[in-house]
Amino acid sequence: MITVDEVRNALRRVVDPELHRNVIDLHMIHDVQIEGDSVHLKLALTTLECPLLDTLSEQVHAAVAALPGVQHVAVEVVEMSSEEVAAAYARATSGNGQGGNGQHAAPTFSVSSPAKGAEVVSLPRQLSPISHLIGVTSGKGGVGKSVVTAMLAASMRRQGFRVGILDADITGASIPKLFGLSGNLKQIPEGILPHQTSGGIRIVSTNLMLHNPDDPVVYRGSMIAQLLQSLWKDVVWGPLDYLLIDFPPGTSDAQMTVMTELPVEGLIMVTTPQELAGLIVRKAVRMSQEMHVALLGIVENMSYFVCPDTGSRQEIFGPSHIEAVTSLAKVPLLGQLPLDPQLSLLSDAGEIEKYQFPLVDNIATALQQLIPHGDEKRDGVVAL
Ligand code: ADP
Repeated sequence: MITVDEVRNALRRVVDPELHRNVIDLHMIHDVQIEGDSVHLKLALTTLECPLLDTLSEQVHAAVAALPGVQHVAVEVVEMSSEEVAAAYARATSGNGQGGNGQHAAPTFSVSSPAKGAEVVSLPRQLSPISHLIGVTSGKGGVGKSVVTAMLAASMRRQGFRVGILDADITGASIPKLFGLSGNLKQIPEGILPHQTSGGIRIVSTNLMLHNPDDPVVYRGSMIAQLLQSLWKDVVWGPLDYLLIDFPPGTSDAQMTVMTELPVEGLIMVTTPQELAGLIVRKAVRMSQEMHVALLGIVENMSYFVCPDTGSRQEIFGPSHIEAVTSLAKVPLLGQLPLDPQLSLLSDAGEIEKYQFPLVDNIATALQQLIPHGDEKRDGVVAL
């Protein structure tokens, strides 16, 4: 029959990617029990919200299941006490030449801004391989940029992708409200944990860092840059297929700052028939060229209204010229969305994930097709 020592020896091959030590040396395996060909054990993690929970427990399960004579493996994940967490970090740091005082330096919001070239990949970034970082922009506020970001994220999530939203619209952060999220973000030893929506979208926003989310946020340019850097470097997103960034509106410094601070792969632009679409699109094209970030496509929001009584399509903001503009600018039109009272009701109720609309799914699919897929590795973005 298999022995406890054999199980523990097998588990020495499972290394915690954050602490760079194996799970046995870190005392993460408790209560190994063996009955015939069945093994039951506990895997103790620093927090149950650890983004590596699934990965580590699968690796532990696989290592034990591979032992000859083992037919059934049960891995119970438990949370370490704060003393155990401190001891685990002490063990990790004592064995890797980083000093052994047992103190784990938790990342803070007030990170300094090293020159881009000299960037050291932070621990939260190492724990957060993100395949695609896509920005959502608009010419001005109020056109539905945040709503479109939220709907696209929800659609992608329903398609089974791992999705996050970084609400970089610092002075008009509305993403948490759309998903009914409140309460400050939690800091764990590994970094800042995003909030999760009921559908499993991970969200980070400055509004989740303020004591009173109704307080106005007043930042100077340099502070915005620091805050964005911190949101990028200190958040433990865990692995994501798509991270959507809700940009500040306009083609101002604030937008440029986001593009400078974050390795944005491509942009989509939200506009309405009211906006001077030609001008907005030309500005967006110029900005994306200057910043070397691809403009992937345009979404026209509030394009029309479908009259509930007659089903007729009313262009209440006037006729759209978006198709002519996008074809002239050679930017794909990803889709046109109607003005829909149901959407505004669900947004106000913090239930935007309940809004399901085929046209939004089409836009999400079109967007995915425009993004180059492959195993390319970008600055700060790791392909899964
Ligand atoms: P922005 O991010 O561009 O400032 P928001 O996404 O916050 O704009 O949207 C502004 C308001 O318009 C919100 O109250 C939202 O619910 C509403 N809204 C946006 N798009 C639509 C739409 N297609 N139908 C109905 N209401 C919409």
